[in-house]
Amino acid sequence: MLIDIITIFPDYFRAVFDYGIVRRAAAAGLVQIEAHDLRGWTIDKHRMVDDRPFGGGDGMVLKPDPIFAAVESLTGARGAAELAGTGVRVVLLSPQGRVFDQRVAEELAGAERIVFICGRYEGVDERVVEMLVTDEISIGDYVLSGGEPAAAVVVDAIVRLIPGALGSETSATNESFSEGLLDFPHYTRPPEFRGLRVPEVLLGGNHAEIARWRRQKALSKTRRNRPDLLERVALTEAERAWLAEEEPENFSGE
Ligand code: SAM
Repeated sequence: MLIDIITIFPDYFRAVFDYGIVRRAAAAGLVQIEAHDLRGWTIDKHRMVDDRPFGGGDGMVLKPDPIFAAVESLTGARGAAELAGTGVRVVLLSPQGRVFDQRVAEELAGAERIVFICGRYEGVDERVVEMLVTDEISIGDYVLSGGEPAAAVVVDAIVRLIPGALGSETSATNESFSEGLLDFPHYTRPPEFRGLRVPEVLLGGNHAEIARWRRQKALSKTRRNRPDLLERVALTEAERAWLAEEEPENFSGE
């Protein structure tokens, strides 16, 4: 997979992608990530990327021309319409976008190439949204100063889904959200720490029992912290019964 990031702060990403799974995936040739300086596509002598908003108001807006030039030179296509069905996505990070979650990460992980555009100031000229991007993505209902931290989050979540990026092929399928639930609790040595014992079932070596315990803990943690997720998961009769028994007053089940 090829990932390009268009930003006015390309150095921001040097440290961000230089660790852990993303670094390993890049070293293994599974992904190539490049941060490009938007100013490289300006043509005026001051290398201006922003300008005042038409209609007045606070702040500056990122100009459309360098962004169009950047995306067109990277993709070879003129606008989002030409990219339909090509496996290339052009993603604008924006608080106005569709909210990023594991489903969106899985969808984007299927792309061959993704070009991310990081906004700054008041955002980007709306013609970028109208013509150039295939996706507007928000990482949550809050406003960041720039798209760079959002791009770092989205790229990390996508890269770990590329086959081979994690040590074990099954790791990503056991994580929070992959099956609609939060992950189960994990423990490691020592078996007792500050008076807290690791649950006996995990020490016993009975894999069926461990799997059942983990599923139940995932269910109960999801109900406690993210009941909205639980409503969308298909539960077995036995799981419903177990949940109803565990905390009947909080569980609607339907
Ligand atoms: N005026 C914009 C608004 O109110 O919707 C906010 C602009 S914000 C200060 C500057 C840039 O940060 C945005 O263009 C976008 O690239 C990025 N950004 C801010 N919040 C974000 C979020 N929740 N998700 C993704 N990108 C975000």
